[in-house]
Amino acid sequence: MSEELKQKLFNTKKCGWEEVSENQKEEIFKLSKKYMDFLNKSKTEREFIKNAKRIADENGYKDIIEFETLKPGDKVYFINREKSMYLAIIGEKSVEEGLHIIGSHVDSPRLDLKPNPLTEDTGLAYLKTHYYGGIKKYQWTAIPLSMHGVIIKTNGEKIEINIGEDENEPIFTITDLLPHLAQEQMEKKLKDGVEGENLQLLVGSIPYNNSNISEKVKLNILNILNQKYGIVEADLASSEIELVPSFKARSLGFDESMVAGYGQDDKVCAYTSLAAMMELQNVKNTAVCILSDKEEIGSMGNTGMESHMFDFFISEILNKLGVNKPNQLDKVFCFSKMLSSDVDAGFDPLYSSVSDKQNSGYMGKGISLNKYTGSKGKAGASDANAEYVAWVRNILEKNDIKYQIVELGKVDIGGGGTIAYILANKGADVIDCGVPVLSMHAPFEVTSKYDIYAAYKTYKAFWQE
Ligand code: MN
Ligand code: MN
Repeated sequence: MSEELKQKLFNTKKCGWEEVSENQKEEIFKLSKKYMDFLNKSKTEREFIKNAKRIADENGYKDIIEFETLKPGDKVYFINREKSMYLAIIGEKSVEEGLHIIGSHVDSPRLDLKPNPLTEDTGLAYLKTHYYGGIKKYQWTAIPLSMHGVIIKTNGEKIEINIGEDENEPIFTITDLLPHLAQEQMEKKLKDGVEGENLQLLVGSIPYNNSNISEKVKLNILNILNQKYGIVEADLASSEIELVPSFKARSLGFDESMVAGYGQDDKVCAYTSLAAMMELQNVKNTAVCILSDKEEIGSMGNTGMESHMFDFFISEILNKLGVNKPNQLDKVFCFSKMLSSDVDAGFDPLYSSVSDKQNSGYMGKGISLNKYTGSKGKAGASDANAEYVAWVRNILEKNDIKYQIVELGKVDIGGGGTIAYILANKGADVIDCGVPVLSMHAPFEVTSKYDIYAAYKTYKAFWQE
């Protein structure tokens, strides 16, 4: 009797795996397999957008530029400088009734090359880097790194670089001090153990043929680059080259229940929302998928969510629907609803002291919703209205999707943010909603396949509402 009452009244969240059938398990594993394959080809924002475009093209989406007018059911996208992308399916309802937006980001923490990167010291050639996003620097030494990006020559020619993914290609690494001589380093605070300026990539050691000039190893590297890509040192100034772990995404654990891989923040939400959108046909409210760039460094710049490029995309939709008028864009945003689909800190039993156990996102317990983010007294938080939280809960419950409503860490410990506030500033109702991750921002992050599937189901249900 009391047992039943407890079951009825308590908010108890069970592990999702306990309730999956064999068929569901198969579906969950199938989705994760596709996700891992995608992740392995999409380590940078440019690669993600390139592959997302291919998938969108295959599924009947077209560049919005190709449409003179739009009507319900039309599938469109807009690609912003190869680094961010917005997709939409025009809904049956008037667009004035608001958009249903899901927004993630496709950039991940990494090391970028400096504009003048190549140096030689004591017979070794290095590329200097400047890290991108919040990393623990020591995690990026002594691991295999691959090089991805573009070099643009002054004549506009674009050279794509991708070295280190194929087993037959070389990789690169950043050296660390041997423990035998690291006594001083080991006494330092963890954050100071490896300095930003020491994140220099080892790239070569053979000197250019017995000439008597200085910097022969650097010359040899430049000669190799010149022969392979036709570039000179100055061309590196107009390049965007990212160093990312060479590891492949893999199934993790004896039970293969988890995914370990680089860049899951936030490509796990980006991929699942993209995959869900590809299965939509007719929607009531216009469905919009945002794959944004530069979230990890504050969403600034013309490919970040702070730019007006997204407004431009929605304005184009209004123009081509023939419904634009003064303040129409503001009106549309005010009636819009959004899931800011970004990852959440998964509860880690090894570091339990940073979390409030009652308000943490657990691996395998489904999609994680943050009513608010921010830190220490909700500073900088975008706080979802209770009415909206209830509306989202209702969708999840009627679609039988497991969810947890949580906070990122203990009250006075720290916190974080996403692109949620940017759309909230425009007037939309927004809640953060994503997959819990272990080792977030590390070169190798961990997620649960159950939660990946829950995210996919959530995004699909939200758009189908
Ligand atoms: Mn993120
Ligand atoms: Mn992040």
